[in-house]
Amino acid sequence: MSNTNLSIVMLGTGSPRPDLERSGPAQVLFLDDLPILIDCGEGTTTQLMKANIPPQNIKHLFFTHLHSDHFFGYGQFLLGGWGLGRRELTVIGPKGIKEFHDTLVRMFHDDISYRTSLGRPGNGVLDVKIIEIDEPGIVPCDIPAKVTAAEMVHNVPTFGFRFETEEKAVVFSGDTAPTPAIIELARNADVLVQDACLAATGVYRNTKDPELQKIWENLQKEHCTPQQAGEIAQEAGVKKLVMTHFLPNVNGEEVQQEAANSFDGEAIVGKDLLKITV
Ligand SMILES: [Zn+2]
Ligand SMILES: [Zn+2]
Repeated sequence: MSNTNLSIVMLGTGSPRPDLERSGPAQVLFLDDLPILIDCGEGTTTQLMKANIPPQNIKHLFFTHLHSDHFFGYGQFLLGGWGLGRRELTVIGPKGIKEFHDTLVRMFHDDISYRTSLGRPGNGVLDVKIIEIDEPGIVPCDIPAKVTAAEMVHNVPTFGFRFETEEKAVVFSGDTAPTPAIIELARNADVLVQDACLAATGVYRNTKDPELQKIWENLQKEHCTPQQAGEIAQEAGVKKLVMTHFLPNVNGEEVQQEAANSFDGEAIVGKDLLKITV
């Protein structure tokens, strides 16, 4: 575990709202040359290719939760990555991920049979190893890092993940409202990739539309503002904060400023294909 080089590529920094600027939520953590995919939103496979990460090289995929925006890219990743030559895959996620995976494989049974009939082995799609996480704690998986899952505050079971080598720690919050659990999970981490969905945008926060105001009110229970992201990073003592999960047309300078009000360290407004050295 010693002297592993860590880096992160933000593949998609968007939200459930389709956005030309931001692909669906997904990021890659590199442990040396080993790429670990965290979440698989719409467009993940093409974002991997844009980042020069061959999709078939991904052998480990962690899902923070099973909301559509974090999952929509899985069909393309599962079958497209297999088509590109991936022959093994482990998928880790909350309870329910097995049913999601099995349903997809069932839906595309004839399609997969056609492709295996051409001579392609079924490995990498028919023998995917699924690890369902029942409760917070150490996640048993075969990557050269210690992985800890903590339960976040969202409206479906959601896990934040901490990846730790001897020297470094990187934490992904998934979607969450502020909670002591993310502060604990991110304690002294080198990088925290944090939900800051509730940035000021014309969509909700500055609206006079009562329907959108209602949604905005409810979203406070599910996500963080950039200010709260900064507070979490500050309390946890992380070195670098990377904010993500943005609605369309977010004002990056405002996000940056808001986080800087509560966080003394380096605050980065995530954007697609941004690479962060840990
Ligand atoms: Zn969500
Ligand atoms: Zn989300």
